[in-house]
Amino acid sequence: MKAPVRKIIGQSTVDGPGNRTAIFLQGCNIRCAYCHNPETQPLHADDVEMLSVDDVIEEVKKGIPFIRGITVSGGECMMHQPFLLELFRKVHALDAKLSCLADSNGTFLFSEPLLSEVDGVLLDVKAWDASVWKELTGSPTNEVVKQNLKNLLLRDKVAEVRIVCLPKDGPIQTDVEAVIAGVKAVASECGRPMPKMHLIAFRPHGVVGTLAETPMTSAEEMRVYESFLQ
Ligand code: SF4
Repeated sequence: MKAPVRKIIGQSTVDGPGNRTAIFLQGCNIRCAYCHNPETQPLHADDVEMLSVDDVIEEVKKGIPFIRGITVSGGECMMHQPFLLELFRKVHALDAKLSCLADSNGTFLFSEPLLSEVDGVLLDVKAWDASVWKELTGSPTNEVVKQNLKNLLLRDKVAEVRIVCLPKDGPIQTDVEAVIAGVKAVASECGRPMPKMHLIAFRPHGVVGTLAETPMTSAEEMRVYESFLQ
């Protein structure tokens, strides 16, 4: 099985816990106003290689024993769910104690086999309110994101929830407080503790469109967002 792979970083310390091989698949199904990698959105691009799972496995092997696992990101890696499943199965079969994480926008439902195989998901919960979500992403509904959140919490497979926090006076808003309250409510409903929450300050670098000229979210604003976690 093959998938379009934009790049592989042999050893990354910013794509989940520990040192990991990060694999970036091409293509995304939504259009976030704050996307800083818009070149990853089209499914096909001239500068992107089609690689097989075995090609990727060869790259992963080069990192052993220096990596704790792999993280597959994008674009949106769940556009290539069968590839992901085969890759995770083969990485686990290497018997090198490598964990397999997916970094996902949550808009494709994780299948049962993938829920069993993935060790954790870095799940973007970009907005809670449907209208905020739609304005931010251009996608009609975030119901699947909420369903994934619940399914993953029940399996104890939320590595972290990620929220990009926009400045308050920008042209588009995020409902960070509502996301935090929503995640808390779903965790409580599932009888699970609040997952790790990772609040990320918006940065305009690479962003095109409405938010291209919007300044970075200030440290002071981030402190206010962080206070919602208390
Ligand atoms: S989900 Fe990620 S890759 Fe897709 S548009 Fe949003 S920020 Fe960009």
